[in-house]
Amino acid sequence: MKPKILLTNDDGINSTGIWAAFQALSPIADVTVVAPATQQSAVGRSISIFEPIRAHEVDLHGIKAVAVGGKPTDAVIIGLYALRLEPDLVVSGVNIGENLSFESIMTSGTVGAALEAANQGTPAVAFSLQVEDQGDKFGDPLSPFLIGEEVQRIVRDVCERMLANTFPARAHIINVNIPSRVTGGYEITRLAEKLFSTGVEKRLDPRGRPYYWIDGPLYEDAEEGTDVHAVRKGNVSITPITLDCTAFHARSDLEEIFL
Ligand code: MN
Repeated sequence: MKPKILLTNDDGINSTGIWAAFQALSPIADVTVVAPATQQSAVGRSISIFEPIRAHEVDLHGIKAVAVGGKPTDAVIIGLYALRLEPDLVVSGVNIGENLSFESIMTSGTVGAALEAANQGTPAVAFSLQVEDQGDKFGDPLSPFLIGEEVQRIVRDVCERMLANTFPARAHIINVNIPSRVTGGYEITRLAEKLFSTGVEKRLDPRGRPYYWIDGPLYEDAEEGTDVHAVRKGNVSITPITLDCTAFHARSDLEEIFL
């Protein structure tokens, strides 16, 4: 019996990234694609609880897939609780653009879907591909963005290893970032603090009123051992992530203040 994988993403069901992942994983698993119908990048783990969620079976390059009119998290919940897929692993991606550092973990829809799966008791892996031009993240997800065979080989190898071994007990998800040009091997990393120097650009609309655009250059440097550093070096970054955000080391400071 092949293992079962629920495959989702945040770039939308028509993204070349999810199709590349499907092709990479279908030889080793029964893969069901349940993914947002539209682009949902940067929605994090947001969830639709004030509106109905529609899910439609669609033909995706000749296979049956389910397009969900909602967030990546909604797609995972539909897959687990409406379609009752009972997957051995949830895979999210391949995202067009890296998801590195504290910053991205909290905002990424790719990672958000994986976190939701893990919180529902299914181990999950998120895959993101570094882009050399940040503009590529905002391009047409159907464009012939080249996800080479090397990326597919890595996606398959990582999932094969995760399926063949017991999921690390103290991790909830594994966040994998693939450099645009892989020159090294796997590196087990920790999250860097930031990926961007956040800034805001102020512009004027055609009526002369101001609007703002969140923008900022990428951090060039990061400490050795971090995900940002690994990908800059050309290594495939593998970061174990936990759902429990409790700051255990702050307990005693708070006890001083409150008790
Ligand atoms: Mn995305």
